[in-house]
Amino acid sequence: MTGTRVLVLNSGSSSLKYQLLDMRDSSRLAAGLVERIGEQTSRLKHTPLAAGGDAREADVPIADHDAALKAVAQELARDGLGLDSPDLAAIGHRVVHGGMFFTEPTVIDDAVIAEIERLIPVAPLHNPANLTGIRTARALRPDLPQVAVFDTAFHTTMPESAARYAIDPRIADRHRIRRYGFHGTSHAYVSRATAELLGKAPEDVNVIVLHLGNGASASAVRGGRCVDTSMGLTPLEGLVMGTRSGDMDPAVIFHLARVGGMSMDEIDTLLNKRSGLFGLCGDNDMREIRRRIDEGDEAAALAFDIYVHRLKKYIGAYYAVLGTVDAVAFTAGVGENAAPVREAAVAGLEGLGLAVDPGRNAVRGDRPRIVSPDSARVAVAVVPTDEELEIATQTYALVGKNT
Ligand code: AMP
Repeated sequence: MTGTRVLVLNSGSSSLKYQLLDMRDSSRLAAGLVERIGEQTSRLKHTPLAAGGDAREADVPIADHDAALKAVAQELARDGLGLDSPDLAAIGHRVVHGGMFFTEPTVIDDAVIAEIERLIPVAPLHNPANLTGIRTARALRPDLPQVAVFDTAFHTTMPESAARYAIDPRIADRHRIRRYGFHGTSHAYVSRATAELLGKAPEDVNVIVLHLGNGASASAVRGGRCVDTSMGLTPLEGLVMGTRSGDMDPAVIFHLARVGGMSMDEIDTLLNKRSGLFGLCGDNDMREIRRRIDEGDEAAALAFDIYVHRLKKYIGAYYAVLGTVDAVAFTAGVGENAAPVREAAVAGLEGLGLAVDPGRNAVRGDRPRIVSPDSARVAVAVVPTDEELEIATQTYALVGKNT
């Protein structure tokens, strides 16, 4: 392997996010996003980080992912970072669902593509979009190693007691129903970075990671290995999220169908897209919810309380799963920025050794930091996640090993 650059691609159904990193120092050379692919006007935003200068934005028709990647390649070439450069070592792809099969990052070949395809029934929205990105990138640079990094992989270490639902295993196995978990790249990165923040090896610490973005999930990580996580067969289970309900009595679904007369598709949309914070108060952005609370808005206050109550239950549950906890790490948009959420989530948990120092908690920053008092038995940490860097790191390590 001669090159030191890795292109990270995150391909959604109508979007393509990318970052180009130099793995000698993990620096970001360029980043960007193509949105509304296939619509009348697509939008391309490219930030030439290494070259400096402002982001370039353009509204242009981009018919499909192939055209999107070619447009990205052109933007990169303008900065002297063309995808035909020998400096490019590999392309790392985010793939949402790797099922039980993919426990680690994997060099992509035809068999790997076929397996990701076989998982489409359990990830109908995400895997087809991820596959489109993979196919497009392979067509553009067929000679280049391409690596799939799976959102589920970090969670494949969960014991059966945590991964199985309490249903007939024959039915579960026939339909591949089990708790897979998601956001694994983030949970892996943040749990490791938290150990580093504590000055310890990942093997020597137990961490509860709270990834609170628009999607949200918690994980219990013992000695660097995930032993439980809050998302399940799909990302719908667990915490209250921006637009997802999280945990509910499954009988709510029967009730909505039988009594409410809703179709399965309507219920799916309701629970995934019109529930959570948005469903409760009409806003899914925590900044807006806090602003409304400050103005005395009761619906926003109740949404906040329900959100925090669920979070606190998961902290307690994962404390019990782990037995001893060294740190609770907050990450992603809400976790990194919303001090009131962190404060409320650990309020009253002094008996478990958990507390935040109000002064430390109020300080903003983009570096990992501890926000609990020095006297606290368990560190409460804010650890900014970096899924792109993690994908690039895993990709580069694997490609280096194979050459
Ligand atoms: P993510 O999915 O990690 O990009 O997180 C997006 C979410 O983070 C948004 O929907 C907001 O709810 C939340 N968020 C971002 N910035 C802030 C902030 N400064 N304060 C509170 N919440 C924020």
